[in-house]
Amino acid sequence: MTNAAITPEVLHVPRNDAPGRPNLVGMSRERLTEAMIEAGATEKQAKMRAAQLWQWIYARGISDFDEMTNLGKPFRAALRERFEIRRPEVVTRQVSADGTRKYLLRISGGHEVEAVYIPEEDRGTLCISSQVGCTLTCPFCHTGTQKLVRNLTAAEIVGQVMVARDDLGEWPKPSERPQDVHEHGKRLLSNVVLMGMGEPLYNFDGVRDAMRIVMDGDGISLSRRRITLSTSGVVPSIAKAGEEIGCLLAISLHACTDELRDVLVPINRKWNLAALIQACRDYPRLSNAERITFEYVMLKDVNDSDEDARRLVQLIRGIPAKINLIPFNPWPGAPYECSDWDRIEAFAEIVNRAGYASPVRTPRGRDILAACGQLKSATERARKTKAEIMAETGASL
Ligand code: SAH
Ligand code: SF4
Repeated sequence: MTNAAITPEVLHVPRNDAPGRPNLVGMSRERLTEAMIEAGATEKQAKMRAAQLWQWIYARGISDFDEMTNLGKPFRAALRERFEIRRPEVVTRQVSADGTRKYLLRISGGHEVEAVYIPEEDRGTLCISSQVGCTLTCPFCHTGTQKLVRNLTAAEIVGQVMVARDDLGEWPKPSERPQDVHEHGKRLLSNVVLMGMGEPLYNFDGVRDAMRIVMDGDGISLSRRRITLSTSGVVPSIAKAGEEIGCLLAISLHACTDELRDVLVPINRKWNLAALIQACRDYPRLSNAERITFEYVMLKDVNDSDEDARRLVQLIRGIPAKINLIPFNPWPGAPYECSDWDRIEAFAEIVNRAGYASPVRTPRGRDILAACGQLKSATERARKTKAEIMAETGASL
């Protein structure tokens, strides 16, 4: 089994197959059914075979066709000839003093992305990436300085969840029924947040297809309420995320005037605060049980005054919301500093008094550069020049 292949000591997992064969991971059920016909199943059998494959891949984490004991030997051989079951390659795995695990993963083309696992008392959250780099250039974010960008495929996105489950040893044992280990309270990996590298709504199809796989009840079976998508504000795709994925929504707000947000979150020049807040009010199924999280990074002397806090609560008034104050996580060469602790507390107090829970997000895994906004692959260290940033965002920073 794959679990055995990835132990804490083994940092580099060789690919078990020559590249080039279509990967069964990431295929929709419909596509998987077609693939079964390509491997010789009759039209009648194909659906059942696809269901069997689905369970092996996503309910049991199996990637060796020979372990798929309910498939005949010749059919297994036909599958092996045509397809593979491939995850991203784990290049390094770092464990922070606080238990946070950061995976550096290699995907096709030699690109690298990161995924971070954060264990907490009542949950275990995997923060996954949706793109290599990011086309946006929020000046406080390390990922935004990365030059190279491409969308991840659905396989590469769902693959991050599979790699983490491999590493956590969380696939059911052969003697266990998947549904018995799926109770959320018992899961090591119980939540997924799309808060790693990239803007998930600029890779809508890849993210949607991957999340549909992650939510599928015959496989990994995570509830849609355990998945949170964070966006910098791609307004036209926000409602679509609610309709087609059904996940919870987080908004990277960070500023409450257009003037400041134009600088901190440059996509604001395209869709301003009024448009963004309206999209939040219209988000499908918005309720006290399914609140929007507003993320607000605390930047010293930039967005952290009492007045900023009051503007914030006024701006989102009436929206069922949580406010997540994120202490700025520094990275080499970053142009900002984190607000002082007293300032963060004073800010949080105003927000609390207005009736919003405002947990300050404790930075996790800072010692391994795994905290929010610190992700950036070493191989793609090249920094965008100021001129490039200005050309992309169409304004000066
Ligand atoms: N592109 C998406 C999702 C990834 S960023 C988005 O922007 O929402 C996840 C969160 O980390 C965002 O709220 C982002 O603004 C925040 N972040 C980025 N850089 C940070 C840093 N250096 N310190 C703290 N938070 C940061
Ligand atoms: Fe991209 Fe999000 Fe970073 Fe902005 S904060 S550059 S949108 S990853």
